[in-house]
Amino acid sequence: MKHLLLSLLVAFSLFAEPVPDKLVVLTFDDSVASQATFVAPLLKQHGFGATFFITEGFEFLVDKKNYMTWEQIKLLHQDGFEIGNHTRKHAGVTKQKPEQLAADVEFIEQQCIKYGIPKPISFCYPGYATSEAALKLLEERGYLLARAGGEKPFDPTTDNPLMLPQAFDGKPESTLEQFKASVALAKAGKIAVMTFHGVPDLKHPCVNTSPEKFKAYMQHLKDEGCTVIAMRDLAKYLH
Ligand SMILES: [Zn+2]
Repeated sequence: MKHLLLSLLVAFSLFAEPVPDKLVVLTFDDSVASQATFVAPLLKQHGFGATFFITEGFEFLVDKKNYMTWEQIKLLHQDGFEIGNHTRKHAGVTKQKPEQLAADVEFIEQQCIKYGIPKPISFCYPGYATSEAALKLLEERGYLLARAGGEKPFDPTTDNPLMLPQAFDGKPESTLEQFKASVALAKAGKIAVMTFHGVPDLKHPCVNTSPEKFKAYMQHLKDEGCTVIAMRDLAKYLH
């Protein structure tokens, strides 16, 4: 019996689930307050999943008007959203010594545990810079998924899930047409991973998405009948 169970487990782990068309992952970086006050309620209305990548960098510690509190982050988790790790200080991983990076990654894990949030399995590279050392660290610490930058869909058969690309990066100049084009990439085994910052993002205008535009983006996902999930939900599609 034990042997049979083991065989079944091995069989299931060898074969990842097929990726459905129109599979979209929503990610939100930098712990911006509008993610709790505007984004999360809208996503709940639509029944969409999402991952919020938390850092205590920028003015997180002193500006609680523009950055979430840990109580708000805890509420996101309790609402069913995923909390991911975006490091303590938001320093580029290529600029850090291995022990600094390890400490910054561990700090967010400890904060999560302190607030009753599971230890993250998803990571986001600050500023999108990646390194082999960071990749190794994430593997060692049990991370399954890590988002970088880029502008292409994620292909689980060829892309490393610890350096997975984004298909769309919400900027002030981004258009609904561009968003639609990125969504259209989610087919034939590929997944569209979307990046946003604040909606709005008053402290970082270069990554701002206006609430009106964001509503139109989300309505498009609804109209297209997309499956909209958190990054952690990709685990079953990994090879
Ligand atoms: Zn960031």
